[in-house]
Amino acid sequence: MLKRTVLFTLAVMLAAGYCRAGDAASAAKPRGQFALTYDDGPGFITGDLLALLERRKAKATFFMLGEAVRANPAMAKKVREAGHLVANHTDTHKNWFKIGKAADREKVFAAEVGRAEEAIVKATGEKPAILRMPNGYTAPWVREAAKRMGYRTANWDYGSDWTKLPEEKMIAEYLKAVRAGNVLLMHDGGGKSRQKTLRITAAVLDEAQRLGLEPVRLDVLLK
Ligand SMILES: [Zn+2]
Repeated sequence: MLKRTVLFTLAVMLAAGYCRAGDAASAAKPRGQFALTYDDGPGFITGDLLALLERRKAKATFFMLGEAVRANPAMAKKVREAGHLVANHTDTHKNWFKIGKAADREKVFAAEVGRAEEAIVKATGEKPAILRMPNGYTAPWVREAAKRMGYRTANWDYGSDWTKLPEEKMIAEYLKAVRAGNVLLMHDGGGKSRQKTLRITAAVLDEAQRLGLEPVRLDVLLK
């Protein structure tokens, strides 16, 4: 009898529009996952970014430069302790389109990846397992060399925060890219100011919530 009353009450509430579709969607299991990735840090905004991700219960991946980690090892540690994934973005962000043509490219690669790894391990206590080359440089020899050093390489599906696109248009493009399985790229380090990264991230997280998509670490997405 009680059960029937509850069911009846629910039916009345539904008919009266008490339970909005949005409530049902936000309470439901996420429909898919996507990944937020941040390159070139740690930088000036990394602390604010961690606070924003924490408020929104989002996990992300940080492709750090060895030189930036050495400049702020405490922030690299904070990123790891907040449950985000720390990944390797080489040591000094060299021009690989040039180095890739040189005879000693494998030697430079091992040094650049190795030095960044050393800085990350020292700061966070964990060896990174994912590598993103500067400017998304990729080639079969890079993937092979990365594999020998215990890495898999990962680029991105959408990113434009380094371009001259007006911010409004840029945010609209990022929102279009919020889709299951996608990897988004932004920057938390390098450049003069990265405040834009915080604004884009907040907008992306709003959109993800609206779509019922969960922001996860790259190692989770690539599983
Ligand atoms: Zn970079």
